[in-house]
Amino acid sequence: MKISNIFKHIKLVMKHKWVVFKLCIKVGEPWRGFMHDWSKFSPTEFIESVKYYNGHRSPISLCKEDVGYSKAWLHHKGRNKHHHQYWIDLTIPEKTIIIPYKYAVEMVCDELAAGMVYNGDKWNQNTQLEYYLNKERQQNLIHPQTDKFLIATFTEISKNGLDKTLTKDNIKKLYEKYCVKMEELDENQV
Ligand SMILES: [Zn+2]
Repeated sequence: MKISNIFKHIKLVMKHKWVVFKLCIKVGEPWRGFMHDWSKFSPTEFIESVKYYNGHRSPISLCKEDVGYSKAWLHHKGRNKHHHQYWIDLTIPEKTIIIPYKYAVEMVCDELAAGMVYNGDKWNQNTQLEYYLNKERQQNLIHPQTDKFLIATFTEISKNGLDKTLTKDNIKKLYEKYCVKMEELDENQV
């Protein structure tokens, strides 16, 4: 493990957190932006990510390629509600449930920030839609309504850009169009 990678990894995580925070402010969820990804500083996530630090690819992907799985990822997705993987339970009939609003918004900001930080100058407003359709969607079990929300959001970004799409009103409208809020479902069940 290289000592310099400790600092490079911290810098990369903080840069990612900063971009997520700025995007979360745009959509009216600053607290989600602030709370984003602190578990990356837990020993399970931190040590593995420093070991596989690379600079332009996720250390989690590199670890998975090397040992077949990533303990950092299992730890991360089990604690961070902004990952659709958090909402999977294979023992229930639906297998996965709709991601609640504030985490759905944080997820959009997270994916955009990751795309921007990793792609640098090569990032453009189509990047996220292409990545989602060609990669993320293929590899994951995503609730059909969460899926529709993500496609609609990334499609709007590719057509209208970040500033027009990422407003509190617009993102709320998109979420309400494609997802039923879990809070409402919970209330109705009482
Ligand atoms: Zn995360």
